[in-house]
Amino acid sequence: MSNRILLLGAPGAGKGTQSKRLADAYGLEHITTGDALRANKDMETDYGTPREYMDAGELVPDGLVNEIVDAALADADGFVLDGYPRNLSQAEYLSEQTDLTAAIFLDVGEDELVRRLTGRRLDPETGEIYHVEFNMPEDEAILERLEQRDDDTEEVVTDRLEVYYENTEPVIEHYRETGDLIEVDGEAHPDEVFERISEVIDEDPTDA
Ligand code: ADP
Ligand code: ADP
Repeated sequence: MSNRILLLGAPGAGKGTQSKRLADAYGLEHITTGDALRANKDMETDYGTPREYMDAGELVPDGLVNEIVDAALADADGFVLDGYPRNLSQAEYLSEQTDLTAAIFLDVGEDELVRRLTGRRLDPETGEIYHVEFNMPEDEAILERLEQRDDDTEEVVTDRLEVYYENTEPVIEHYRETGDLIEVDGEAHPDEVFERISEVIDEDPTDA
């Protein structure tokens, strides 16, 4: 049976970085609500545009996000889900759509989260994730085209972390209470974190 992995963690915990690797290594679909919303940031919807919420660090309304996840799950066999669910109502919706084989929480402290988010840079052509201190490309052409996300400024990062502690920590607590949460220390080199996650998937799949 295919792996259906949920990767949980605060903004900046390394979900995107690790999801890409997991998708490659295990042949999984990478489902990420953040990327999907960024690709449609100025789309007019019944709720307004995603940008109105994202640039303020707020959650985009559940109805919109659930639709994105619905469509993505319908097309995916095995997947790694990144950035969803972000509140208890999304978690409940997800449980009605699919069964998970693992719910993994990447644990990273707040100071490190702020450092990672404010230093994050993206390659708009490949979607590759870089960091000004920890991981910069050597290729001059890539260096020159790197971009910073609109919401990775210090001001919005503070708001996003608040939204995370208020809305998303209860989701993590929920999976902890049901006994399905696997906690992984996310404060190591990305290679080491990947190794830890792989061990969990290979040796201890749960039926979350
Ligand atoms: P998330 O998707 O959880 O918001 P990202 O994967 O985008 O997190 O990572 C946030 C930033 O931290 C990026 O700049 C990334 O390069 C960097 N990063 C990711 N994992 C690590 C790590 N283990 N150690 C140091 N920096 C990391
Ligand atoms: P990060 O992992 O760095 O916090 P994401 O790319 O996952 O960033 O999310 C960026 C923004 O997109 C969030 O701040 C929020 O506005 C919106 N978003 C992403 N996923 C969801 C979700 N599941 N529910 C509501 N809003 C979301």
